[in-house]
Formats: sequence, structure tokens, C-alpha cells
Amino acid sequence: MGTKNVIAFGKEALEKPLHSINIKRRELLSHDVELEILFCGICHSDLHAIQNEWKNTTYPIVPGHEIVGRVTKIGKDVSKFKIGDLAAVGCIVDSCRKCEYCKESYEQFCENGWTLVFNSPDKHLGGQNYGGFSENIIVDEDYVLHIPEKLDLASAAPLLCAGITVYSPLKNWKTGPGKKVGIIGVGGLGHMAIKIAKAMGAHVVAFTTSESKVDDAKRLGADEVVISTDDKQMKNQSKFDMILDTVSAKHDVNVYLNLLKADGSLVLVGLPAQPLELKPFSLVNGRKHFSGSNIGGIAETQEVLDFCAKKNITADIELINIQQVNEAFERLQKGDVKYRFVIDMKSLSK
Ligand code: NAP
Ligand code: ZN
Ligand code: ZN
Repeated sequence: MGTKNVIAFGKEALEKPLHSINIKRRELLSHDVELEILFCGICHSDLHAIQNEWKNTTYPIVPGHEIVGRVTKIGKDVSKFKIGDLAAVGCIVDSCRKCEYCKESYEQFCENGWTLVFNSPDKHLGGQNYGGFSENIIVDEDYVLHIPEKLDLASAAPLLCAGITVYSPLKNWKTGPGKKVGIIGVGGLGHMAIKIAKAMGAHVVAFTTSESKVDDAKRLGADEVVISTDDKQMKNQSKFDMILDTVSAKHDVNVYLNLLKADGSLVLVGLPAQPLELKPFSLVNGRKHFSGSNIGGIAETQEVLDFCAKKNITADIELINIQQVNEAFERLQKGDVKYRFVIDMKSLSK
């Protein structure tokens, strides 16, 4: 199969910084779309991956899965996009299309294995595939999203992972008027969850370890903000229908299970590399549910983009050049970002 060379930013080994590297992309297949990448968000999953925290990283790695761009080329049978369209790519770039889940656009549950946008086996070229910290990307049109014109492109990029990852469980657990919903962690996912849960009509309570985020959490839409390290504040809470846990590091989930109503759900989306401890009494008292959720399917990702355009929701971002990406990862590790880094990919050619 024909390939072409593309400039990217990646990491060649665990101990090396990210720097400019050349990667290969396949030449366009008949249903492929080529996107010039304009903006790419930085998710904590990119950080877990480049640091091999989940023990599944193959180097060199080019991260980036919150991709917004413009269509520059289309394969001969493409019908959903034309050259010049705004378009986006998130976490999933392929799946089997045949299993019961793919048929319902729950590609995130594909029984035969999905292809993520980076660090996944490349079915066409062999080896691993490469993500959005690059000039362009080539993806089958069925896995490419339409970006509503009205959204600001840079701050819409985080909707492709942070947005869908919190929207999907909030919708699944029927967030809406009359529901009391907690959001743990005011980071990239958490700040989107506050905005989206509020737009769905719920009473939203943010839990944070950072006193410096209290005013922001209220501005983002939280009705109440609780400092989770303050036992008195934690004890004074009335019970929740659902709590969404976006924390990236090891923490105590039992204190949140104890804040649920009977039959309430604690839903994990955060992916700390270490196991979490569950006390059986936290779960059995009150018939509590401890669940998880992983990104969302392609149709639901389009739905969150359209929902956010309708409700005027995008991420609060800090726009950076690619040359600042190593510093950005160091700051993300320390929780020092309000609330998502997005890379202006024009800087790649500097
Ligand atoms: P982030 O921007 O770094 O936010 C994580 C937040 O967690 C921090 O801002 C902080 O909030 C809180 N936190 C961090 N360390 C903590 C600790 N030791 N104890 C308590 N709270 C702590 O990360 P993100 O991009 O939102 O991602 C969050 C997690 O979700 C990551 O593990 C990521 O891999 C995962 N993720 C999962 C999916 C999925 O589909 N399931 C998709 C995307 C990301 P406060 O300062 O407010 O306490
Ligand atoms: Zn992500
Ligand atoms: Zn499938």
C-alpha cells in the first residue's frame, strides 16, 4: 500500500521528551477522508499513555485524540464529506461494523476489537497507528464527525473526548431536572461534566481537592462546590442520585458511595493506573451501584457536538504551540491547567 511522510510530534522512548518526528500515513482508500489538523486537545489519557502507565504503550507514540480539522482530500466513494468541510476525529477510528454493538453505533463496545486513534494496531500499514499531534490524519468517513459551524474550533476540540466521555454516562443515568448529580474532579473531563450536567437541568455538585477551583466551578455551572478533603463539608451532604468520578489518580471511592441514595450510582470514567479499594459495606448498604463508562460511540459523539452547539458549550482552554507540549504535560501532571490544553497545530510547521 502507498504511504506518505507526515510531520508529527511524538515520543520515541519513555525517558525521552516529545519532539518532531516523521511518521507514515496510508494513501487514501476509497472511503477515506484526509483532515488537515487545526487543533488537538491534550487529555490525561495522552499523559497516561506516553508515560506507559497502563503498561500497553508501544514507542514511538504520537498521542492526540481530540482532533479538529478541515477536509483536504476525499476518497472516490466518500459521500458524507466534501473538501473544505470542518470535521473532527475522536478516540475511535475503526471497529468491526458487524457485531450487535457496532450495528447500534456502540462502537466502544465492539466485540471484535475497536481501533483507537493511536497506539492501536494499524490494520493497513502494520505496526501501531499515530494520533493527532500531526499535520494530518486519514480516517474512514464512518468514523469522522461533523463540526457545527457555530462552535469555536479550538475550544470544541475537547468535546471529542472529554465531552463525549462525560455526556454518555450523564445521559445514560438520566441526568435531568429533579436529579442531584455529583462530579468528582474539576479537570478536563470534570469541568465539561459540570457544564453538560447543568445544561441537562440537574442540580450539580462539584467535588474538588483544590480550593483555588471553587469560584471557577460555580462559574462553570455548579450549584454547590465541596472541598472533598474537608470531612465536615463531606458529612453535610444530602444524598445523590448519581456521582461521576473523573479522578486520574488513586483515591477513596467509598466516601462517595456513602453519599449515594439507595439504588444510586457511582460511575467511574477516570482511569488511575492503580487499583481502587472497595469496601463491601459501602456497596451493600442501600443497594448501591458502582459502574463505569468508556468514551461513547460515533453517533453519540456527533450528538454531543450538536448538543453543545445548541447549548453554547465548549471547553475552557489554554491554547499552546506544539513546542510547549512537554511543559504542558508536566503541568497537567500537577493539575495546573484551567481546564484543557489545546494545541494550535499551525505551530507544527514553525
Ligand atoms: P485532568 O484534567 O488531569 O483532571 C483530573 C482531576 O482529578 C484533577 O483536575 C483533580 O481535580 C483530580 N485529581 C487529580 N489527582 C487527584 C488525587 N490524587 N485525588 C483526588 N483528586 C485528584 O484529567 P482528565 O483529562 O479530566 O482525565 C481524567 C481521567 O479520566 C484520566 O484518568 C483519564 O485517563 C480518564 N479518561 C477516561 C476516559 C474514559 O472513556 N473512561 C476518557 C478520557 C479520560 P481537583 O483539582 O478538582 O481535585
Ligand atoms: Zn481522552
Ligand atoms: Zn463490532
